[in-house]
Amino acid sequence: MQCTLCPLSCGAERSAHAGACGVKGLTVAKAYLHPFEEPPISHKNGSGTVFFGGCALRCVFCQNFELSRATRGKEVTPKQLAQIFFELEEKGADNINLVTPDHVSDLIAEALALYKPNIPVVYNSGGYCKTDALERIAPYIDVWLPDLKFYSPALSKRYTGREDYFAYASEAIRFMAKKPLAWSGDGKLLSGILVRHLVMPSCTSDSLNILAFLREILPEGAPLSLMRQYTPMGNIERFPELNRTLTAREYRRVVEAALALGFHPLYTQGKESAGTAYIPDWEF
Ligand code: SF4
Repeated sequence: MQCTLCPLSCGAERSAHAGACGVKGLTVAKAYLHPFEEPPISHKNGSGTVFFGGCALRCVFCQNFELSRATRGKEVTPKQLAQIFFELEEKGADNINLVTPDHVSDLIAEALALYKPNIPVVYNSGGYCKTDALERIAPYIDVWLPDLKFYSPALSKRYTGREDYFAYASEAIRFMAKKPLAWSGDGKLLSGILVRHLVMPSCTSDSLNILAFLREILPEGAPLSLMRQYTPMGNIERFPELNRTLTAREYRRVVEAALALGFHPLYTQGKESAGTAYIPDWEF
């Protein structure tokens, strides 16, 4: 069957070859207890994170380049993936965290139909996805963890090749925002949505547009994460403006705007978050 799972709708016959996302089936590059997500996600023991290879969105600045370009990872079946979920849960994971799942969401849903963990399942998406695909996996998902990267079609075209990024991501986040929020007594997110936005060099006006959009659609009390960790890497030779980390002034401008709009809880990062120290080693 020709694949139309993600907005690229490339029509690849995935039983035979990889699509534009770079993979045929499920490729897992790493599965471990990740301590560096936001506090309500990593919580006490760490997030049971499963990193999938391949990606439909080709950000030139990708911080996980080896994964998104599918040069790392091992192919697994839905049954083997279900076993990975089980093992992470046995190790004490606070949740199962599906990283870059959009191009393999139907196969992940098959794995979750075989084994639904007794801890929250987190859908950690780049935001570039179709709502009909989200609807199919939604019965298994407790927490939506989407990025909202760009508001401007010109910016998303420049840095990802796709000018329809916001059109798809905004619809996806509207859908995800309907999930009722629930927290454990000690601060773990059990249900709902946590949106992430990576503030980019020279893009603070775009960030302010994103905040205004999110203020309109997110329920009161929905957590927001403003990331400062942008580090020059990937294929940015043609984009000299991306060849630096964020200035303190740029980040402060976006954080102050979020506070003025009343986002709470608001998760922020320190200057030390930029760099490669928090990028996992991809051996699996
Ligand atoms: S998920 Fe992959 S194969 Fe399917 S439409 Fe998107 S890019 Fe093509």
